[in-house]
Amino acid sequence: MEVKDIKETALAQNPVIGQMLQYNHEQIVFCNDNDTGLKAIIAIHNTILGPSLGGTRMWNYSNEMEALNDVLRLSRGMTYKSSVAGLNLGGGKAVIIGDAKKLKSEALLRRFGKFVNSLGGKYITAEDVAMSSRDMEIIRMETEFVSGLPENMGGSGDPSPVTAYGVYVSMKASAKETWGNDSLNGKKVLVQGIGNVGMHLVEHLSKEGAKVYINDINEERLKMVADKFKAEIVPANTMFDLDIDIYAPCALGATVNDETLSRLKCVIICGAANNQLAEEKRHGEIVREKGILYAPDFVVNAGGIINVYYELEGYVRERAMKHAEGIYNTTWNVIQTAKAENIPTYAAANRLAEKRIEQIGKVKLSF
Ligand code: NAD
Repeated sequence: MEVKDIKETALAQNPVIGQMLQYNHEQIVFCNDNDTGLKAIIAIHNTILGPSLGGTRMWNYSNEMEALNDVLRLSRGMTYKSSVAGLNLGGGKAVIIGDAKKLKSEALLRRFGKFVNSLGGKYITAEDVAMSSRDMEIIRMETEFVSGLPENMGGSGDPSPVTAYGVYVSMKASAKETWGNDSLNGKKVLVQGIGNVGMHLVEHLSKEGAKVYINDINEERLKMVADKFKAEIVPANTMFDLDIDIYAPCALGATVNDETLSRLKCVIICGAANNQLAEEKRHGEIVREKGILYAPDFVVNAGGIINVYYELEGYVRERAMKHAEGIYNTTWNVIQTAKAENIPTYAAANRLAEKRIEQIGKVKLSF
C-alpha cells in the first residue's frame, strides 16, 4: 500500500488520529468541564523549532468535527507562519466550542487556563477571534503560558503597528520585483479594511506618496482615515474595478476568488488578512497565470506573531520592529524561490518553511 492510500484509509476509519496522520500533528488535547460548560480542543502541530504558539478562538461550531478540522488547519498554519518568519516557535492553536456571548465566563476561561498550564509550556496561547486582551488576563491567572498581554501587564500590547509595518515592507519587496525599485511613490493602492492594521498601513503608504484608495463597512472610520491621510473612499461595489497597482486585503479572508479575480486589475496583492486565497491551490495558480504577484499572507502578516514572540523574550518594541523589517527579505526570497522553481508564491513560502524546520531539526539532534 502506498503512503497516500494508507493515509486515506486511516482518515475514513479514524477521523481523529487519521487527521493527525494526514498533516503530521503531534498532539491533540480535548478539554471538558461540566461545571463551566468548557469544551475545548488544543492542537499542537509541530514543536521542532520551539513551543507551539497560536491564539485561542471561541466559535459556535455546528459540530465537533468542524471544530477539530478548524483547529488542526489553523495550528498547522501557525507552524508555517512562525517557521518562515524565522522564529523559534512551533505551531499550535486552540478552539473553545460555543457562543462567546452566552458561554464565556471567568470560571470557564480560568478552567481553560488550567488545561493550557497542564501542557507545561508546550503550547502558549494568545488572543484570536472572540477573545479579548481582558480574557487573556483572566487565563493568565491560571497559567504563565499566555502571550499578547496588554502593556500595563508587562505585555507587548497592540500588535497592529508591527503587523502593518511588515505589510508595508513586504509590499516594497514586491514592488522591487515588479518595477525594479521598491518605491511606492505614485503607486495606486487599494486598502480594503482600515481597522487597526489597515489604518497604520495607510499612514506608511501616504507618507511615501502613494495614491491610496480605502474601503470599509465602518463609515465613521472611513471618514476619519480619509481626512487624516488624504485617502480616497471607494464604494464596495466598484472597488475591484478600479485601475490600481496594488490590492491590500486588510479586512477579511477569501477576497481573492473567482469573482474578484475576474475584475481586479492590480499587479500585486499584498495585505494583512489571513487566508486571502479562497482556494489556496486553485486561486494561487490563477493569480500566477494572470501575472499578478501574490505576496503570501502568512509571510506578509507575520508581524503579529513576531510581536508576541518578543513578549516571551522580555518585550522591546524596537526589536520586534527590526525583526518585522526582515519580512522584506523573506518576501524577496519567497518570490525568487517561486521564480526559480516555477511554482506559485504560496507554495514557495511553504517550501521555505518546511526547509527551515528540516534543517533546524537536524541541528537540534546534535549535542
Ligand atoms: P480590525 O478588526 O481592527 O479591522 C478590520 C476592519 O475591516 C474593520 O475596520 C472592519 O470594519 C473592516 N471590515 C469588516 N468587514 C468588512 C468588509 N466586508 N468590507 C470592508 N471592510 C470590512 O482587524 P485588524 O487587526 O486590523 O486585522 C485586519 C486583518 O489582518 C484581519 O483579517 C486579521 O485577522 C489580520 N491580521 C491582523 C494582525 C494584527 O496584528 N492585528 C496580525 C495578523 C493578521
